[in-house]
Amino acid sequence: MIDLHLHTSASDGALRPADLVARAAAAGITTLSVTDHDTVGGLDEARSEAASRGLTLVNGIEITAVEDERDIHLLGYFFDPSDLILRAFLLRQRDDRIRRIREIADRLESIGAPIDREPLIARGLEEGRTVGRPHVAAALLARGYVQSWDEAFDRYLEKGRPAFVSRCGASAAQVVGVIREAGGLASLAHPGLSRIDAQIPGLARAGLDAIEVRHSEHDPPTEARYRALAATLGLAVSGGSDFHAEGSVRRSALGTVTMTAEDFRELEARRRA
Ligand code: AMP
Ligand code: ZN
Ligand code: FE
Ligand code: FE
Repeated sequence: MIDLHLHTSASDGALRPADLVARAAAAGITTLSVTDHDTVGGLDEARSEAASRGLTLVNGIEITAVEDERDIHLLGYFFDPSDLILRAFLLRQRDDRIRRIREIADRLESIGAPIDREPLIARGLEEGRTVGRPHVAAALLARGYVQSWDEAFDRYLEKGRPAFVSRCGASAAQVVGVIREAGGLASLAHPGLSRIDAQIPGLARAGLDAIEVRHSEHDPPTEARYRALAATLGLAVSGGSDFHAEGSVRRSALGTVTMTAEDFRELEARRRA
């Protein structure tokens, strides 16, 4: 089985990279990609664990772009993680994530729901790790302001809610450019969640290589629609579970949302590095 969308503790996943690879192996996955938010910090550990188990690890990342205050997630595959332009770009992403956490914490304080911000900022400054709203959600949960992560997003953190702070950063087309410059393939993550269909043809002209057709929050009609769109635009398809943790965000279990060997071959055939 092939799963090209997995998170680890390098970003907002619960499992260390080696533990994630072990769990994926136990679920029957043989080719996987670790795609943490705005960091490649989990790849080395995942790669050595995958090698020792005879699994194939595809270098991966999920980069957040922003347009009109909306986040757009782009997956990168088969790139060079040591590429200097990519590394410089990821440092800017990290700085903006920390700026955002500070502003979210300010807002939470002003509405009477203060959190302990220093551990979150320290985490965001750690080499190879990124911090994000899920960590704020965990802090809100720890303080007892909410009963679940979902409630933290619904009440405070989503766009339109009182502690929402927009990101500052690159557009989707610019992120496609960074991934390609590092020798990678760019795939538009979970378009069924991002809802930016009108922009997909423009992204294809900007060099987008694929669309994430298979995803744990795509129902069969959504999957069929994006598969057809990929074919129309001459794009490959990718797929994966977007697993973060058992019983948490993206509730899918490992090994339940995978992509076919044929789709993977077609994706890999486009690789440049
Ligand atoms: P950030 O990287 O700070 O923008 O946080 C985005 C991440 O938060 C997503 O990748 C999901 O893992 C998680 N997330 C987004 N929306 C929700 C939600 N409504 N409930 C729980 N987790 C969410
Ligand atoms: Zn996430
Ligand atoms: Fe995502
Ligand atoms: Fe993801």
